Amino acid sequence: MQYRTLGNTGLKVSEIGFGGEWMDGTFEQALAVVKACEAAGINILDCWMPDPTRRSNLGDALQQLGSRDRWIIQGHLGSTWQNGQYVRTRDLDQVKPAFEDLLARFHTDYMDLGMIHYVDKPEEYRAIMADSPFIRYIRELRAAGTVRHVGLSTHNPEVAKLAALEPEIEMILFSVNPAFDMMPASDNLDDYFGEAGEQSAVDGMTPERAELYALCEQTGTGITVMKGYMGGRLFDAAQSPFGAALTPVQCIHYALTRPAVASIMVGYSTPDHVAGAVAYETASDTERDYTRMLGEAPRHAYFGQCTYCGHCAPCPQGIDIPTVNKFYDLASLHETVPDSVLDHYRALDVTAGACIACHACESRCPFGVKVADKMARAAELFGC
Ligand code: SF4
Ligand code: SF4
Repeated sequence: MQYRTLGNTGLKVSEIGFGGEWMDGTFEQALAVVKACEAAGINILDCWMPDPTRRSNLGDALQQLGSRDRWIIQGHLGSTWQNGQYVRTRDLDQVKPAFEDLLARFHTDYMDLGMIHYVDKPEEYRAIMADSPFIRYIRELRAAGTVRHVGLSTHNPEVAKLAALEPEIEMILFSVNPAFDMMPASDNLDDYFGEAGEQSAVDGMTPERAELYALCEQTGTGITVMKGYMGGRLFDAAQSPFGAALTPVQCIHYALTRPAVASIMVGYSTPDHVAGAVAYETASDTERDYTRMLGEAPRHAYFGQCTYCGHCAPCPQGIDIPTVNKFYDLASLHETVPDSVLDHYRALDVTAGACIACHACESRCPFGVKVADKMARAAELFGC
């Protein structure tokens, strides 16, 4: 395993990390994944997920292995669990108990990286940093050593640039993959895949993202990567915005070759998944090379596709939007809905038919997904 310095934090992090958001299942499964990570030399864990079961399983696994202090943990402030759903909030009545719950479930009294959770609007960023009660709480945690370094998570390069200019924020968790990097502000990829041909596909990063990476290098703002696989969509030619499939090794290589990037957080639910990502460490240059695929790819627009990130929650009807979207996307790949997908869909507590088209979720979606339309299509496809 190769280790990199996470910008001004000075922390040495494994270039392959562990994104805990996908770690569902039992404690035994979590323990097996953590053991596989430790055996491979992975030492950084992102845990934005407020789901108490996931927190407890991972925290108990670290406790059983006696390895908490060997891990660098990104703990998020503002990601809370309310009435069985993820809720992003700056309300300290919710933020404080959620952060204390995170510490308790990880059997620890500190987080290496205290993440200002998910800020995608510049105006929200400015409101937080303008001496809000939320940032004052984070400063208190930092002064007490409960949070060792302050970071911020965002999908928006404009917010990321503001954070990179703020010395108080030492690192960012940012969504990086070739599709996102080539998504122009107009949402029209043709500008980047058009007449300039193959080379534009390879070097077609949007200016604001190129500026962000350069700025982070300049200011020493380390980057850890989320959405490196674009929710798995990049592995499937039918779902990939490029119309061609990338491999996990190619996606990892893309992320790790962006300036200022120290580590990519990869989601695992089995030790085999860990092995699949760690294979990057011994992959050949040919296996890592993504440029040929991008250069030869058909041209597709990306914006509006679900990455199953879950940021659209909560839904007043209790719909698990990313899961419904995932089942819908899976089923759409087939001429008729596979029985296995239908069974899983019907087992959901609330199905898409409950959607009242309030559109509340859409304002929280960083990827412009027309959720209400998609719920209507899912209800029609699955019959409920
Ligand atoms: S539009 Fe539908 S899915 Fe979205 S929050 Fe409203 S009810 Fe829930
Ligand atoms: S609809 Fe948007 S916010 Fe919700 S899971 Fe999909 S990409 Fe994420």
